[in-house]
Amino acid sequence: MDCLFCKIIAGDIPSKKAYEDADMLAFYDIAPQAKVHILVIPKEHIPSMDGVNADNAAVVAKIFAKIPEIAREAGITNGYRVVSNCGDDACQSVKHLHFHILGGEQLTERMA
Ligand code: AMP
Repeated sequence: MDCLFCKIIAGDIPSKKAYEDADMLAFYDIAPQAKVHILVIPKEHIPSMDGVNADNAAVVAKIFAKIPEIAREAGITNGYRVVSNCGDDACQSVKHLHFHILGGEQLTERMA
């Protein structure tokens, strides 16, 4: 499959890993938009938040259960933002479900 994040999971494209287990990978964004900017992705290819359903939602729950630890381990101590861009209007550029963890500094109030 011609998917950038599937290639990162496979190790065909290098990444700076923050966390990995059998179901998910967390790695540092190549173009950080905050002092700490990590992407968390399921290893299963789900195209976007719009592709989440009752059959695959367990991995999303696992990701959300792990995000606080990933943020802590990355040195975030004073809060963070979790974002998932879904579809064209949200400017999703990689069509593999991912959650941005943004933190390590004061973020702006504006979200859109
Ligand atoms: P989105 O625009 O929400 O689809 O987010 C995709 C993110 O992937 C962007 O923040 C990019 O900077 C990031 N990105 C693209 N290619 C890479 C890569 N090879 N390694 C790490 N992050 C990447």
